[in-house]
Amino acid sequence: MNRKNEIWVFGDYRNYFQNRVTLQLIGRAVELAKEIKATVCAVVMGHDLDEWIGEYMAHGARRVYVVEDPSLKEYDAETYAHLTARLAAAHSPEILLVGATSFGREFAPRVAKRLNTGLTADCVGLAINSDGLLVQTAPSFGGNLLADIVTPQQRPQMATVRPGIFKEIPHNYEAKGEVIRIPLPKDIPARRIRLIKSVRQTQKPQKIEDAAIVICSGRGIGTQKKFNSLYELAELTDAEVGATRPLVYAGWADHEDLVGQAGKNIRPKILFSFGVSGAIQHTAAISGAEFIIAVNKNPQAPMMKMADVAICADAGQVCAALIRELKKRIR
Ligand SMILES: Cc1cc2nc3c(=O)[nH]c(=O)nc-3n(C[C@H](O)[C@H](O)[C@H](O)COP(=O)(O)OP(=O)(O)OC[C@H]3O[C@@H](n4cnc5c(N)ncnc54)[C@H](O)[C@@H]3O)c2cc1C
Repeated sequence: MNRKNEIWVFGDYRNYFQNRVTLQLIGRAVELAKEIKATVCAVVMGHDLDEWIGEYMAHGARRVYVVEDPSLKEYDAETYAHLTARLAAAHSPEILLVGATSFGREFAPRVAKRLNTGLTADCVGLAINSDGLLVQTAPSFGGNLLADIVTPQQRPQMATVRPGIFKEIPHNYEAKGEVIRIPLPKDIPARRIRLIKSVRQTQKPQKIEDAAIVICSGRGIGTQKKFNSLYELAELTDAEVGATRPLVYAGWADHEDLVGQAGKNIRPKILFSFGVSGAIQHTAAISGAEFIIAVNKNPQAPMMKMADVAICADAGQVCAALIRELKKRIR
């Protein structure tokens, strides 16, 4: 087969403002493409897609494959997987990346099955090895190990990637690229699922991996009561609360809020870190934070060394003082 040297990123544009994983993947694909001299392409399907075509190009895609039709307006994993697999079979990309959103997790395995290729789910790292293969790094054994997986023979090399791991390339209004429009095939299988109603989830719209401010707590916060008071601070600062593994094991925080190798990667503009020692399994996931304020009783704690502002004090007391001050200012 005449394989094209292309890296494809599937364009998942639902919940665009909260979820930028497609742009993050395009950003990473641009870096990978330099190593294997590939072209970064986005694949987008749906209806009224011009805005997304422009957006993906502005963030690094040099070619966009588009399947546009009113019947594709609603995301449907089966139809989209069918179309994507057909496109990939026809154009033979080397790599196909998909965001590990709820849709991506439903869609990507269907594409991989149709193409008879492998799929590494929920990757936290992507790189190119000396053989030019995509190294897909994913947590395994309940997050206790990170496994590097390659797909030596089958193509495309497929991975779903968690949001918040990679950085998007800043918007470039001048960017140009090629648009390849593919007509909707006549023989797509009938939908087996009918959408009756779509309701936007109102609860917890912001995810910790997308939050601009994160308040992360470790064992040094002391008590569950003090940990719970961080939610009050979070409300005052429009932040999300994260936790280290001991707090998740203690049942104070959900696994959803775990920050680290076994949990979420975050890249907030401001990270408050209360009573966190700074173990590598935790700090590996916060390297994208722009500004870190750490509170710890021990000035030698690795977290204090990593911080932009290190406050040597009791975490509970600093939290209470911040809440007091902010309440005064907001009133
Ligand atoms: C395979 C594997 C995967 C892991 N994955 C993760 C992961 O995803 N995320 C994660 O977080 N951990 C993970 N861990 C655990 C990690 O190694 C650390 O044990 C953990 O991050 C430590 O959490 P901590 O900083 O809350 O607690 P500790 O290490 O106990 O640190 C508590 C800190 O609080 C400070 N302190 C104490 N009292 C106060 C006070 N009154 N005020 C202020 N500071 C105070 C102390 O000086 C100390 O620095 C993993 C471990 C393994 C082996």
